[in-house]
Amino acid sequence: MKYISTRGHNHLYSFEEAVLRGLAMDGGLLVPQSLPDFSNQLDYWTDLSYQQLAFEIMFPFVENCLSGVELKHIIEQSYAVFDTPEITPLTAFDGGYILELYHGPTFAFKDIALQFLGNLFDHFLGKSTQPELNIVGATSGDTGSAAIYAVKGKENVRIFMLHPKGKISPVQALQMTTVLEPNVYNIAIEGDFDDCQSLVKALFNDEPFRKNTYLGAVNSINWARILAQVVYYFYAGLQHLKSLPDKPLFFSVPTGNFGDAFAGYLAKKMGLPIQQLIVATNENAIVARVIQDGRYSPTKAVATLSPAMDIQVSSNFERLLFYVLNQDGEAVLFLMNQLQRKGCFELNRNCLENIQKDFCAYQISNEETLEQIQQLKQQGIEIDPHTAVGVVAAIKAKLGKTLCLATAHPAKFKEAFVSATGVAPEPIAVLEVLKSKESRCATAPVDVETLKQYMELKINETNSRKGLL
Ligand SMILES: *Cc1c(COP(=O)(O)O)cnc(C)c1O
Repeated sequence: MKYISTRGHNHLYSFEEAVLRGLAMDGGLLVPQSLPDFSNQLDYWTDLSYQQLAFEIMFPFVENCLSGVELKHIIEQSYAVFDTPEITPLTAFDGGYILELYHGPTFAFKDIALQFLGNLFDHFLGKSTQPELNIVGATSGDTGSAAIYAVKGKENVRIFMLHPKGKISPVQALQMTTVLEPNVYNIAIEGDFDDCQSLVKALFNDEPFRKNTYLGAVNSINWARILAQVVYYFYAGLQHLKSLPDKPLFFSVPTGNFGDAFAGYLAKKMGLPIQQLIVATNENAIVARVIQDGRYSPTKAVATLSPAMDIQVSSNFERLLFYVLNQDGEAVLFLMNQLQRKGCFELNRNCLENIQKDFCAYQISNEETLEQIQQLKQQGIEIDPHTAVGVVAAIKAKLGKTLCLATAHPAKFKEAFVSATGVAPEPIAVLEVLKSKESRCATAPVDVETLKQYMELKINETNSRKGLL
């Protein structure tokens, strides 16, 4: 399987290149040249374990870069760190099921993809001519800790994670800064999340620096992350079809960067009979609006109770455009250029109707979010504010029993839970002890040169130490 850019440039990339590069050379996102059709296999897959199913789904995408044995090993390794053998269990509630995606080491769904990605990095670096990988990322919370846990202690990989100083939750900060492995560098930036992101962008746009330091990315545009997320749609969908074979399949997805929702769309394209995907946003509703009326116009992000979805530009939406525009890269490029020049674009009617065949969308307020947390608590079910956004949307859509993706453990967003219910969520023991642990974090101003110098210093320091051994 080869990969191509969503923007029409006709270069072919291998799976390994797609994993290590992140973006295509023309600035587009990478998508597979074709998609397998699994519809005839579904009957045989019902009783597979999560890991076995992951293998069946992923193998066609990694052929030529990983052997079957290698892929199996990477999958086993990635999901051995989850705290339940089902990996992504389902819990029933009045409106359907809660699909719990937070059983990984940092208690948010990002672990499912980032554990896999971290092990892929490790594998490819062990074999390729590239000696090392220096990951740089900006985080407003969950991505940072999931990425750090995915690569901590790995040889030939360092991670430099930027977060806005004092602007992420105390638990989220501690989850990152108490990781003391020598290849982990946390940097608190004296600015906001946008400042962190523009610093990261500036590093990637500095071609000599990027090449010399073997810069790598872990953000949700990485194809391997999407691929790993397709698996749980099949896993949960097959369970639903087994227990309720004549009931249509609906998923509700709390959405920020559109990675998770896009993975659901791919699952459908590959033969999982999903009737409709419900896209749920908070007040930052760029994606909900474009699905409703075809106008994509980012504004300034506002802070909500579901901060991992406080996003202005939904990068992965470009991948959906590629498919609904019949894989016409030039048409995607045209829209992306408009976005750059005018700050918005508008979809034509045909394209919008195409999207609405598979998606409906809802924008959910903070009040509705709190109300929903409270209501499910009365049924004995605890959910976090991101999950609540998806549950509200599912109820509003009135389609029938819906699989609602639960993207974070409620204990990660304790404050919101307490203000909704008056009581604390079930605590997580390993989060409770973080406060008493040693932590390490550098502080830096919003300045690219300072950041570059710091990174070069740390890279040289550890490389020369390695040379001495
Ligand atoms: C990242 C995140 C989301 C949004 O996922 P996207 O793939 O960016 O749409 C939702 N909930 C939580 C808890 C997250 O960490």
